[in-house]
Amino acid sequence: EVQNPLQVFAQIESQVRSYIRNFPVVFAKASGHTLWDNAGRAYIDFFAGAGALNYGHNNPVIKEKLIEYLRQDGVTHSLDMATEAKEALLKKFNEVILAPRGMSYKIMFPGPTGTNSVEAALKLARKTTGRHTVLSFTNGFHGMTIGSLSVTGNRMKREGAGMPLTHALSLPYDNYMGADVDTAAYIERLLEDGGSGLSLPAAMILETVQGEGGINVASSEWLRRIEAICRKHGILLIVDDVQAGCGRTGSFFSFEQAGITPDIVCLSKSIGGYGLPLALTLIRPDLDKWQPGEHNGTFRGNNLAFIAALEALNYWKDDAFRQSIGKKGQMARARLEKIAADYPYLGAEVRGKGLMLGLAVQEDELAEKICACAFERGLIMETSGARSEVIKLLPPLTISDEALNRGLDILEESVKICQR
Ligand code: PMP
Repeated sequence: EVQNPLQVFAQIESQVRSYIRNFPVVFAKASGHTLWDNAGRAYIDFFAGAGALNYGHNNPVIKEKLIEYLRQDGVTHSLDMATEAKEALLKKFNEVILAPRGMSYKIMFPGPTGTNSVEAALKLARKTTGRHTVLSFTNGFHGMTIGSLSVTGNRMKREGAGMPLTHALSLPYDNYMGADVDTAAYIERLLEDGGSGLSLPAAMILETVQGEGGINVASSEWLRRIEAICRKHGILLIVDDVQAGCGRTGSFFSFEQAGITPDIVCLSKSIGGYGLPLALTLIRPDLDKWQPGEHNGTFRGNNLAFIAALEALNYWKDDAFRQSIGKKGQMARARLEKIAADYPYLGAEVRGKGLMLGLAVQEDELAEKICACAFERGLIMETSGARSEVIKLLPPLTISDEALNRGLDILEESVKICQR
């Protein structure tokens, strides 16, 4: 029996906080780029599990591998024990991702989620440098636990922790003060000038494209300058690729495109292949200074996630998948540019890279209104940015051109309707 969405809203909201506010239905099924509610209505998914479903819902090839593994009674939970699935994943990640890029990172399992990867990075940076602070950037988002929240540049989110968090200073991200202000030069001066009072930090942490912060893209040049500043002062560079990684911006690692080499890389979300919780922290081998027990966690041995991740890596064996992301990204971007031009009332700016795209609008609450209107027409999208002013597009990377265009048609129609 199908329930009235408003009843569902009231029922669920009285028991739990959930996305029911944005998507007032009960979802029942999912495949590829499509979600279905329990009334059988289909929605194109431009949210993709907040970037955790780059390979689509119930990816058929990954699903088969998982079913096969379960049928054989493969180990599902193993803490830090060695398992065949873990061994295979480590081997393949080296073969398919690290070796071809000439990268030599040691792979750590920090815990099941993105914030665990960030916490591990922050802890290791402090431990290996003997320095105390980690500098972060305006509008950066790194997770909801106290360490990651301390380096998150969002007042509202930080206030969720109740009290002021230790690290308070956000450095200005690229373009934070407009294109005319050279924020890298400001950062360099802050670090070199005793008058700033700033002690040298253990690390800097950044996203190359800020997801939750509003799809803000740092230029490759800016990233290279930040890297140079870090090198000069022995500051570790941590790139949080939890959302921008795993192909989202058009290459496996987002930072490849800038040609920088972070000391530590945080991965989660789509690394689990199938929406299964998995995180990796890649570290420069000489930073491996933890004694056994200094960082551990029960759910670091999710072998189902290893199996899914292993299969997902096949997408990166040749260049076709990477190229397809670039093509679809360009197509979607051109359509967004056209929407921005055709509907001047939006005051819109198109942002992003690859299939991590945003349409930033002027008026407060307009982005949310457009997303709500699109949802009614069968498209799922979320907003981001400090004022929720950016309509965020994160379709599965496996989406067909046809579905991508259909989703963009719904977005355009919603923009048109909200103009009235
Ligand atoms: N870093 C970034 C860049 C993220 O986008 C997120 C999640 N939105 C996180 C860290 C935290 O990941 P999780 O929610 O899995 O803890």
